[in-house]
Amino acid sequence: MDIRFATRKGVGAENEDAAAAGPGWAFAVDGATEPPDADTGCRHGVRWLVGRLSAALAAELGAASGRPPAEGGGSLPELLAAAIGRVRREHGPGCDLSRPDSPSAALAAVRAVPGGLEYLVLADCAVLLPVPGGPPRMITDDRIDRLPGGRPYPRELVRSMRNRPGGFWVAGADPRAAHEAVTGVRPGGGRFGLLTDGCTRLAEHFGYGWAEVWELLDGAGPAALIDRVRAEERDRPGAVRGKPHDDATALVGAFAPAAPERRFPRG
Ligand SMILES: [Zn+2]
Repeated sequence: MDIRFATRKGVGAENEDAAAAGPGWAFAVDGATEPPDADTGCRHGVRWLVGRLSAALAAELGAASGRPPAEGGGSLPELLAAAIGRVRREHGPGCDLSRPDSPSAALAAVRAVPGGLEYLVLADCAVLLPVPGGPPRMITDDRIDRLPGGRPYPRELVRSMRNRPGGFWVAGADPRAAHEAVTGVRPGGGRFGLLTDGCTRLAEHFGYGWAEVWELLDGAGPAALIDRVRAEERDRPGAVRGKPHDDATALVGAFAPAAPERRFPRG
């Protein structure tokens, strides 16, 4: 296993992103910043949610490690649903999780399964899968970009569409969201990248091609990719929609080493 990642806070007081990896699994989480006057019903907050969700998902993935879905190990949506359920219980009776503004997060995850790489994306994180001779495949969940009426969205619309059929889904208090995630299996495994939207803005706001983003991520590395995001944000502040600097997390790696290109001659 070879995993590198970097995470850096944006303009907020705390970094509401997180990343984690273990044998055969990796994920990145991006907590949704609460509007200052939001009535979330939760006494814990987004940073707490991101920490608990990361711990719960790592525990589920660790417990299922070495047991593929076909052998009762659970698929990524099943493991994420269990993690969301676990965090829901950890909120305790003091939180009203029925409120539409209760803390939530976007998430991207990958997991080694027999013969391939299983991936899952919920909301605006991204999975990158390199393709020989071309730009990488970029997998994201863009349902938040397709709400009726287009941006900017009235806040009431976003509240009414969150974790609702026909709207968009986030990892919050509702385990059903896990089964609404964008998922798939890439045959053969191979290298992968995970980005939160603090990093995808390099392509989405600053005009980089995904091939260039992949090259930065896998070549120069996750910290250098975030350096580039910050440099662009400084140089071209007008290009950014939303926060001038968002929490940014990038992860790259592979679960099995690439096949050697040539063998050394024996003795
Ligand atoms: Zn709570």
